[in-house]
Amino acid sequence: MAGGPGSYVFGAEEKKELMDVIESGCLFRYGTPGVDGFQAKVVTFEQEMAERLGHKHVVATTSGTGSLLCCLAALGIGAGDEVIVPGYTFIATISTVILANAVPVLAEIDESLTLDPTKLEALITPRTKAIIPVHMLGNPCDMDPIMAIAKKHGLFVIEDCCQAVGASYKGRRVGTIGDMGAYSLNVFKTITTGDGGFVGTSDDELYERAFGYHDQGHKPCRMGVEVGNRSIVGMNLRMNELSGAVAVAQGRKLDGILETLRTKKALLKDQLQGLPGLGFRTINDPGECGTLLTLLFDTAERANKFCQAMGTVPIAKSGWHVYNNMEQILNKVTATKANCPYDCPRFETKVEYHKHMLPQTDDILDRAVNISVGVVDKGLGSGCGINIKSDTEEINAVAKHIREVVLSL
Ligand SMILES: *Cc1c(COP(=O)(O)O)cnc(C)c1O
Repeated sequence: MAGGPGSYVFGAEEKKELMDVIESGCLFRYGTPGVDGFQAKVVTFEQEMAERLGHKHVVATTSGTGSLLCCLAALGIGAGDEVIVPGYTFIATISTVILANAVPVLAEIDESLTLDPTKLEALITPRTKAIIPVHMLGNPCDMDPIMAIAKKHGLFVIEDCCQAVGASYKGRRVGTIGDMGAYSLNVFKTITTGDGGFVGTSDDELYERAFGYHDQGHKPCRMGVEVGNRSIVGMNLRMNELSGAVAVAQGRKLDGILETLRTKKALLKDQLQGLPGLGFRTINDPGECGTLLTLLFDTAERANKFCQAMGTVPIAKSGWHVYNNMEQILNKVTATKANCPYDCPRFETKVEYHKHMLPQTDDILDRAVNISVGVVDKGLGSGCGINIKSDTEEINAVAKHIREVVLSL
């Protein structure tokens, strides 16, 4: 079965929360607790997740993509602004910047497969407004140098936590380090509602704006009662009570899932140490999710031979998480005055994207192979490996097989 670890552990808890909602008949996120049996699952999820992660505020949404849009809108990022994003990420990190009428500027990753802080400053121009570090494959970005650069240049930081719900960096959960965090609950993520997401922040004003963008500009009206004048134009990205019910149950399982994944990953990884030509990507903090094990070979040739024997592909060829495979943006000028909706004098950016524009990223991804620990997803190149339900015997067998293949190369 393809999917993230949360989808493997559905059980009585999700069923109970869902039945509460079905029996109440109240599927809309707004209502008054105790009236008509309203269950307030979305609000409960928001409050519990905020406390779990250390955010002052959480807004539940319909997707990680919607969450990124909320963050961009809350920070007022738009026409003429440049936003630095890594060239290895899910397309949504890039497309939401384009949809906000701003310009994504692609940056190199390092061997952690996340944003390379040493390559950031060269990309900053007077138009740069924000950086979006992406905690890719459950691994937190090296946030200290990223935050230092952002502070020095007065830039906003939106953490894309879609692949790293619950991960921590130096004792803080990802998403609480920058100005805002965007999270996904789609089926391939650590915990899931099928589709869904949320935004986290500890800034009152950003919360108010993110909430407004997610629901037609409303001030945070948790029970559906208007609490003030609407100050911004918004969308409808509201989570409903059915998703909220599953989100409550999954959220309560989050830390248990992460503990299990870290244990199983260690068991697998320990058996693959010291093999010729084989290393691993850099892990920036032991608080990573443990959702995937990323092998890093010394040469692309060795990585390719390994993949042929395993029936998989190196990350470079895994599909649309790699900028080289994003045909929507390649060889197109994304930013011209023509697609700026305003008469905007500062709009002079012209950015083109082309294959192999990030040589360091290409070199790393040519040598990198994803093995599933908890996220079984061909689109990430992690169609093979173990899953959260795998027992020690199965993990040992997978480790033995990988060892034999590596030794035969
Ligand atoms: C999945 C993902 C998203 C988008 O999340 P959806 O819920 O699918 O919209 C954004 N960024 C990254 C890094 C992701 O992996």
